[in-house]
Amino acid sequence: MRLLMAGSPGSGKGTHSRRLANDLGISHIATGDLLREQVAAGTPLGREAKVYMDRGDYVPDKVMVDMIKHRLSEPDAEKGFILDGYPRTQTQATELDKVLADLGQQIDAVIILEVPVDEIVERLSARRTCPSCQRAYHMRDEPPADDERCDDDSTPLERRTDDEPDTVRHRLKVYADRTAGVIEHYDVDSIVRRVSGEASVDEVAKRIHEALGF
Ligand code: AMP
Repeated sequence: MRLLMAGSPGSGKGTHSRRLANDLGISHIATGDLLREQVAAGTPLGREAKVYMDRGDYVPDKVMVDMIKHRLSEPDAEKGFILDGYPRTQTQATELDKVLADLGQQIDAVIILEVPVDEIVERLSARRTCPSCQRAYHMRDEPPADDERCDDDSTPLERRTDDEPDTVRHRLKVYADRTAGVIEHYDVDSIVRRVSGEASVDEVAKRIHEALGF
């Protein structure tokens, strides 16, 4: 199965893509995670991307298209995948079509997690992320068991620099201006599934399964 998980920053797409990939035994491919790995490793790509990410802007399409082409050609992607946070622009969507056509593949469904803006701002201000495995926690609603450490690998949690309130507001604007319309690209094939993301993680996971017909 090949899926896209879409939704604004803070809609829960990382949490639910990770969980769904685990449930379905397919790969979770999150472009934000791939970029943060490059930033952490201090590669030239990471240094370039960090400038955009810290401002809450998108990394240029050329960088993203090359990155996803490379990632989708890795062997684990053959069994199926969930793309989390990609495509975010019309160019990325068009280029993804070409990459998939070359691989003889197509997208089966696009899940859009819908969450009101007020809720998103609240969630992102309470979000802490594991810099090692990228798992996210809501410090009030879904906190880690051990104070400020990741449940999976005990790494101390951090606040993402782009989760600062001013940057969050900018990211939401960039999403509205550049990404919200990209969904129309997929509407024509009737594969878009809109899911309300305003509930507990378990409840939203159940809604996603239902929307996919499981
Ligand atoms: P995310 O973890 O999905 O919230 O992504 C964090 C940041 O990485 C975004 O705010 C962008 O700066 C960058 N990014 C991730 N995916 C993309 C993409 N598909 N296109 C452009 N920039 C991206």
